[in-house]
Amino acid sequence: MHPLPPYKRAFIGLGSNLSEPRSQILKAFAELDKLPQTRLLSSSSLYLSAPVGYAEQPDFINAVAEIETALAPHQLLDALLDMEHRHGRVREFPNAPRILDLDILLYDDLSFHEHGLTLPHPRMHERAFVLQPLHEIAPSCMISGHGEVAECLERCTDQRVERLEG
Ligand code: ADP
Ligand code: MG
Repeated sequence: MHPLPPYKRAFIGLGSNLSEPRSQILKAFAELDKLPQTRLLSSSSLYLSAPVGYAEQPDFINAVAEIETALAPHQLLDALLDMEHRHGRVREFPNAPRILDLDILLYDDLSFHEHGLTLPHPRMHERAFVLQPLHEIAPSCMISGHGEVAECLERCTDQRVERLEG
């Protein structure tokens, strides 16, 4: 008998502001559930947020998904980058408009900084468009080095994020 692989809980941040962003995000939820050795546990509502860094582009649709996976962090990142690519994402410049952005926000309680992968995601604690959907599905969640998601959210009340109905 082979032991079952260890399943870990992870949170994925999703964002899109091109090519029918709502449907990009909804499709991505379904595709996360179909990744190997991975199951979608919950998904947040969709949120509308103003672009960060480069303002001359459409508003973003953002959401957060909770998954359980037996993929290791780098395997998961590769699977997400592959999914972005399949949705037709082209990398132009930092903060450029994008069809689909998938970030690993949290992976179990791991905290490290390596070439190509930093956990927790290095900017999640200061972005209301990540914290608000994360708070919706995991209100007591901790962001290693920054405290509870609710505390982080209180520090960025100046950022406007709107929850979309339905
Ligand atoms: P951003 O999401 O910051 O706007 P990109 O999506 O273009 O930018 O990501 C750039 C790189 O960030 C990815 O190729 C990936 O290697 C790296 N990266 C580092 N940490 C993470 C993480 N936690 N989740 C996703 N990507 C990450
Ligand atoms: Mg990204």
